[in-house]
Amino acid sequence: RSGPLAGKRGLILGLANNRSIAWGIAKAARDAGAELAFTFQGESLGKRVRPLAAELGGVVVGHCDVTDAASLDAVFGEIERSWGKLDFVVHCVAFSDKDELTGRYVNTTAENFSNTLLVSCYSFTAIAQRAERLMPDGGSLLTLTYYGAEKWMPHYNVMGVAKAALEASVRYLAADLGEKNIRVNAISAGPIKTLAASGIGDFRYILKWNEYNAPLRRSVSIEEVGESAVFLLSSMARGVTGEILHVDAGYHIVGMKNPAAPDI
Ligand code: NAD
Repeated sequence: RSGPLAGKRGLILGLANNRSIAWGIAKAARDAGAELAFTFQGESLGKRVRPLAAELGGVVVGHCDVTDAASLDAVFGEIERSWGKLDFVVHCVAFSDKDELTGRYVNTTAENFSNTLLVSCYSFTAIAQRAERLMPDGGSLLTLTYYGAEKWMPHYNVMGVAKAALEASVRYLAADLGEKNIRVNAISAGPIKTLAASGIGDFRYILKWNEYNAPLRRSVSIEEVGESAVFLLSSMARGVTGEILHVDAGYHIVGMKNPAAPDI
């Protein structure tokens, strides 16, 4: 295969269905020449992930719960056995209790705070620890974040705090792994209707607000996020690390509501 990721092998975590951001990235990475491996969380998602992986000629490593060290070890062990090394990892994983993705952040429980940070933030570091060993010639790690890390957004609550920590960990990991030529970046995607997004209170309102107020006056697609991901994963971005790339139709530069926007 030809393309900017030709000859490269990558692991993608967080594919749930054909609306997942992971799917947009997987399709674009495959079109760019990459060979892909996938994990899934639980057998009910496995049923969806297997045919999607097959569509892209990818392999399914198996179930992986990112909060379970043994499950991560098994995945990276399997990658080592079959591929020997790895060129990139894409982390598209986040979770929080739906009941706390609505209302006030101040009511967050310690239990859900810990779990949200563990799944949505620490897991990226846990993956970096295991990927480092399989990247003797360098590589690229990519995660997904959201503007709610930088500014208050309604209902995003503890997930905003987790994403802020995730963005900080992108910088710390980039500094640690840079001397091994392992680059670490994130894409801050605009709102997209996915399974995870449906857990966020008033998500449709947030989506509409972005469409009316973003400079490009629309939302972004998983395909657009995917093509930006290919850039970050490929040698085209060999000078880029520790970066949070906004793929959000420009929404993050806006300081005030568009006066011409209709009411929602
Ligand atoms: P999605 O529901 O398709 O993907 C979320 C994935 O996380 C699922 O595949 C789920 O199985 C996985 N996951 C959750 N807990 C897990 C665990 N313990 N172990 C392993 N996997 C686990 O939704 P998505 O919107 O494509 O989300 C992908 C990433 O993009 C997330 O980090 C999300 O926060 C981020 N993001 C989404 C948007 C949006 O508007 N959809 C915007 C910016 C960033």
